[in-house]
Amino acid sequence: MDVHQNFIDGRWTPSRETVAVLNPSDGAKMAEIARGGAAEIDAAVAAGHAAMNGEWGKLDAVSRGRLLMKFAELIRRDSEKLAKLESEDVGKPMTLARNDVAVCARYFEYYGAAADKVHGDTIPFQNGFSVMTFYEPHGVTGHIVPWNYPLQMTGRSVAPSLAMGNAIVLKPAEDTSLTALALARLAEEAGFPAGAFNVVTGLGEEAGAALAAHPGIGHVSFTGSREVGVLVQTAAAKNTIPVTLELGGKSPQVVFADADFAAAGTTIVRGITQNAGQTCSAGSRVLIEDSVYDEFAGVLAEGFRALRVGSGSQDLDLGPVVNATQKARIERYLDIARRDNLPILAEGSFGTNVPEGGYYVKPTLIGDVPPDHVLAQEEIFGPVLVAIRFKDEEDAIRIANGTPYGLAAGVWTSDLGRSMRLSHKIQSGQVFVNNYGAGGGVELPFGGMKGSGHGREKGFEALYAFGALKTITIKHG
Ligand code: NAD
Repeated sequence: MDVHQNFIDGRWTPSRETVAVLNPSDGAKMAEIARGGAAEIDAAVAAGHAAMNGEWGKLDAVSRGRLLMKFAELIRRDSEKLAKLESEDVGKPMTLARNDVAVCARYFEYYGAAADKVHGDTIPFQNGFSVMTFYEPHGVTGHIVPWNYPLQMTGRSVAPSLAMGNAIVLKPAEDTSLTALALARLAEEAGFPAGAFNVVTGLGEEAGAALAAHPGIGHVSFTGSREVGVLVQTAAAKNTIPVTLELGGKSPQVVFADADFAAAGTTIVRGITQNAGQTCSAGSRVLIEDSVYDEFAGVLAEGFRALRVGSGSQDLDLGPVVNATQKARIERYLDIARRDNLPILAEGSFGTNVPEGGYYVKPTLIGDVPPDHVLAQEEIFGPVLVAIRFKDEEDAIRIANGTPYGLAAGVWTSDLGRSMRLSHKIQSGQVFVNNYGAGGGVELPFGGMKGSGHGREKGFEALYAFGALKTITIKHG
């Protein structure tokens, strides 16, 4: 069994203790990772600073961009190997894992190509002055990512930072660190100078907390739960550094009577069941216009009944959820639905020969959920869709905005004016009209409003967030 080490300053470095990694498809131990802590984080941040003062810091933007693009090529070269590792580690079906690898590579390609296009500005000022602005790297940036899309989240978080010229310290989630370590090997092969790309594995409350609180980092980017997001922002505040928080969601899919039911049905079912519902932007509430509630709920029910659950390698519609805690959490919400006599409109089923001991949950559609019910308010983070009725446009907007979250939303209607009114009035970082998710779209700025966090990842917005703007004013007469 593999016992993995941290990657610090271009060297593989053990920790005194390790953490077991379980395979969610059968619950068996599949590897051990280093249990890094404050000492390893200290060493990684110091290595990052040395890299900034050394070879990495001296690279021009074109060379940095080329390195990122070479990294993307290596990720694509190893795509099948990485997909298999991700599928085993997270439990996700191979088809989805292959897509995750492709998106991860795309982040390095996109930001690699953008590295030499970070332009400052010139500002007209008084006669005799010339004023210009430059983006400069923050120095060493910290990245704490969750377990649901490890490859995608890593690419999304670290690629823009590296493109801007920072050195990075990555703390992957303890359940799913294996592909982050595989990426470190590829970063080494691509030729990133020692210390530019560091990975410290371990527990959130140890390595994660030490990274968030480290006085040597210039920015921290956190993707995960709201509770931990608050801890990370509090720690960062003590060092007065900027923070990007990508937290959870309870994203609404709003379906009007004039929608294309077939397209909406397929997309909405996939949107909540992909990755076994463990997607921050999953459309986990479907708001259906009263007059077509039964008809559209019937379309969704048919979609749910067709879903099959199996191991990652069986590659069915859904894999297991990531661990026993997550399974228990989802089952607790399903128990509440039964206790409150909410109608279970449909369930998917397990495929044949599903391994024993895995963390499997049936995708479930629950009907007539009151908008203020706990199932309509809290993030379940599993393949559970709650259906809610609405009367009219105003009612739909009120319900859509009636949770603490604001990450993504879908609007399904053939009325252009209505789609625009809703798009502006729904409080969320992204709104999709007659589609959902846009296949991940690395080019499209993404992030939360309200309890879903702040700051934007993806697109050029993320790149600029990893730089500090400097204004230089020259008096020349
Ligand atoms: P989590 O907050 O428990 O863990 C996320 C990361 O934080 C892990 O790497 C973990 O080790 C680390 N961590 C835990 N405690 C820490 C601490 N005290 N200090 C610093 N780091 C710590 O979240 P999770 O359960 O792994 O992920 C699920 C949550 O993440 C859901 O709420 C989901 O919506 C959210 N999420 C959001 C996005 C987004 O882009 N908005 C993407 C994926 C997941």
